[in-house]
Amino acid sequence: MKVLIVYAHPNPSSFNHAILEQMSFGLQEEGHEVQVKDLYAENFDPVLRASELEQLQAGTTPESILAEQKALCWAEGLVFIYPLWWFGRPAILKGWFDKVLTNGFAFQYGDKGLTGMLKHRRALILITAGGTKKFFKKNRAEHLIHRPMSDGTLAFCGIDDVHHRIYYDISGISEQARQKILSEVAGLGRHFNE
Ligand code: FAD
Repeated sequence: MKVLIVYAHPNPSSFNHAILEQMSFGLQEEGHEVQVKDLYAENFDPVLRASELEQLQAGTTPESILAEQKALCWAEGLVFIYPLWWFGRPAILKGWFDKVLTNGFAFQYGDKGLTGMLKHRRALILITAGGTKKFFKKNRAEHLIHRPMSDGTLAFCGIDDVHHRIYYDISGISEQARQKILSEVAGLGRHFNE
């Protein structure tokens, strides 16, 4: 499969970056074609400006957004890698969706209501969290970590096959446990096999 990894972490020495490296490696080992969209490295501007919104509402897609949509359309599979920030995605990633998943490109309203238009066959979301699994469970908050992404964004736009992994307490666990996560991630390339 052609797989696009969308990555959102500012620090190239972070654990998230190690996840990115292992995921890319694992996909290539399985024979998949990989492109990485590193939003911070590309200095992506996540703010949807008034002028851009006006253009979109008038039916014209700005060139900068068209380029992102082209990258998205290239892929048959998608991977998102990011840390949990305030129970959500880093703003740069949220802004990427604000700009790229436009009405008429990613979804449309018709006689039968809303239809998702993205044709990707599979998506995988990898999230690291500072909090412990126990904390999220106790507060009945586990679903809040991924659902805005899995249901509110990807499934909404038509991608049905969406899986996620949440890596909790990432600074609190042992070095050995982190290495185990990285090995697991390297094996996730198989997730995109036919
Ligand atoms: P890093 O800080 O880079 O690394 C984590 C640990 O892994 C460190 O001990 C590091 O030494 C080690 N490490 C790094 N690289 C490797 C490697 N290659 N191999 C082995 N070990 C390595 N958490 C929540 O649970 N809920 C929230 O709502 C939330 N909001 C946040 C908001 C903000 C703005 C910020 C900054 C943090 C927030 N956090 C929250 C915590 C955040 O989710 C974690 O800081 C993040 O997931 C850690 O990932 P990282 O890649 O930045 O890890």
